[in-house]
Amino acid sequence: MKILIVEDEEGLREALIRTLTGEGYLADGAKDGDEGYTMICTGLYDLVLLDIMLPVYDGLEVLRRIRHQKISVPVILLTARSTVKDKVDGMDLGADDYLTKPFAMPELLARIRMVMRRGTADGTDNRIKAGDLLLDTQTYMLSCTGNTRSVRLGAKEYQLIEYLMRNADQVLSRNQITQRVWGYDADAEYNNVDVYVSFLRKKMKFVQSKAKIISVRGVGYELESSAT
Ligand code: CA
Repeated sequence: MKILIVEDEEGLREALIRTLTGEGYLADGAKDGDEGYTMICTGLYDLVLLDIMLPVYDGLEVLRRIRHQKISVPVILLTARSTVKDKVDGMDLGADDYLTKPFAMPELLARIRMVMRRGTADGTDNRIKAGDLLLDTQTYMLSCTGNTRSVRLGAKEYQLIEYLMRNADQVLSRNQITQRVWGYDADAEYNNVDVYVSFLRKKMKFVQSKAKIISVRGVGYELESSAT
């Protein structure tokens, strides 16, 4: 799962990135409203932590713009101001949750888990489903409905299959996958994607899933959830 932190206070931004990375999330930072908006529009993020008081334009304006663009990524607002009006405005604009600074990291992590859980199929467990494939977002176990085999994934395998499953039956470009799993700054070779896809194919075969990762020539990959 990849999180974007839009926060102009460098110290806090860096601390959040470190904490989230330590918890196994992928995290990037943006330092103002314009950069945040542009990064959210790439569609690479599963969750946004959005500060309200930001340079260029503020967090509420970022939220207004992304919801206007029909971008439905979950957003948790962060702010030093805890006025009722801000809270109401933020929720009206489509924020999913709201956290007043200063906050304790465990509280933030709990809110993130709660917001992400709402996004899963039935809201009752930590699993993402695509076709017969099941991925546990807490334990990194990959399994398949209808049999008892399961296999634990490494961190990159997990990030890759999670991205493919959340976008099942859509073609994802190599570039999107590389940026998403290895990050903007990573000097990952493109063929890393192929290597990890081959690991995942073996594991999907092991759990006897009918879903397939198909190569789309000259573009990238697609998780075909209902392959027969
Ligand atoms: Ca700020």
